Amino acid sequence: MNYFGFIYEWIDSTNDKNYVGSHKGSINDGYIGSGKLFKLAYNKRSEKFKREILEYVYENNREKLLEVEQKYLDNINWNNTYNLVPNARGGTVKGSKQSEEHRRNNSESHKGQVPWNKGKTGLQIAWNIGLPGNFLGREHKIETRKNMSEIAKLRPRVKCPYCNKIGQQNAMMKHHFDRCKFKELI
Ligand SMILES: [Zn+2]
Repeated sequence: MNYFGFIYEWIDSTNDKNYVGSHKGSINDGYIGSGKLFKLAYNKRSEKFKREILEYVYENNREKLLEVEQKYLDNINWNNTYNLVPNARGGTVKGSKQSEEHRRNNSESHKGQVPWNKGKTGLQIAWNIGLPGNFLGREHKIETRKNMSEIAKLRPRVKCPYCNKIGQQNAMMKHHFDRCKFKELI
């Protein structure tokens, strides 16, 4: 293996939907892909999926790999794909590559560290100690709580039956329920 990583494309022969991604490693290391929607479909009918290697990346550089992946993401047909975010670095979509990696990095960087308050029972200090008494006045807090629950009442939260995402009705109607990407898979 003389390459750093590669860009791949899976194609679902039942509907021609594709999934494009990049991977740092060998094409034979067993890696399939990380997209939530793609994996759901792949696990259901892996025999219908075929993978193509779109490009190898030889530069020993993760940024370069993402850059090349982005080139392919920019040309995806967004009406017929399992890709969920148009960004090789992931995005705000929950469970995307970015957030998974972020989580992993975070937990790794904290591994082996001793919590600041370990063994110091009774020594915990309230976060707001020393702040002026009216910094978070009681009235203010109650008022905020009341407003928030009123807003929540006006905008009921609903759950998409296809992907189980919960959110405010207005926003959810745009991309979920009849428009949910998961609908046809289930
Ligand atoms: Zn949904």
